[in-house]
Amino acid sequence: VRIKLVAHAAVALMLPVVAGCADDGAADGKLSVVAAFYPLRFLAERIGGDTVSVTDLAKPGVEPHDLELEPKQVVAVGAADVVVYLAGFQPAVDDVIADEAKDVAFDVATVAPLADAPAGAQEDEDGEKHANEGKDPHVWLDPVRFAAIGDRLAERFARADPAHADAYRARAAEVHAQLTALDGDYTKALATCQRREIVTSHAAFGYLAARYRLTQVPISGISPEGEPSPKRVAEVATMAREKGVTTIFFETLVSPKIAETLAGEVGAKAEVLDPLEGVEAGSGADYLSVMRQNLGKLTAALSCS
Ligand SMILES: [Zn+2]
Repeated sequence: VRIKLVAHAAVALMLPVVAGCADDGAADGKLSVVAAFYPLRFLAERIGGDTVSVTDLAKPGVEPHDLELEPKQVVAVGAADVVVYLAGFQPAVDDVIADEAKDVAFDVATVAPLADAPAGAQEDEDGEKHANEGKDPHVWLDPVRFAAIGDRLAERFARADPAHADAYRARAAEVHAQLTALDGDYTKALATCQRREIVTSHAAFGYLAARYRLTQVPISGISPEGEPSPKRVAEVATMAREKGVTTIFFETLVSPKIAETLAGEVGAKAEVLDPLEGVEAGSGADYLSVMRQNLGKLTAALSCS
């Protein structure tokens, strides 16, 4: 794969105007793009339109934090014209990019400085040093940050495929406008609420909470894999009772067990709040529709008027 990659780079240097290369799997002449997980695929497809072909490394409906890559996915990363990822979110993807795709990788964590991971989030247990350790990766749940990422992605596409640069920028402007409208809806709907605490199963909603002046109370840490300690669950239960929390949120791709138990304990109901880390296959949902569903759940749970 490395030899193929070097050959590809040489061809790209000689023929900068030709999008994609016959030898890299993009035989249809499209810009071949690998997206590391769903929200990045959403942006790549919307902005790329019909002149890119997008492959998603995370399978639909599978939690992407601790993604393991299959050999053919490693090959796809090595052969891509652009790889869109978020350093520190999926260590396996970081490793493959370092080996195979440094020059074509676009790290969306570089668009705006990441916030620190919320207090109470667990440490990584493997003892390895990862990129952006101690930082919160869930930037896509803030529509304003997400729009800025889209603008930068369009510039990356424009550089990789100058023949279609104007179309990439035009589609990015369209996505940006949709995200601005979404942000407006969130701001308006969450302006006046009886409560502002959201209890979530893992700490995915920090950026969203910061943008709309909510307080996230995560049961688990920054990754949904970690089991919360009994002490943490007790703390959250106490807080939930104190604040009169009516809803404990869990998510689509991880077990609702702890959230349901906690909800039963404090007399609240358990409800889905989707962190958009993947969408269920065949659901017909996309980033914008799920974000609007989430807004409905939030305004109901917080008694917003
Ligand atoms: Zn997450």
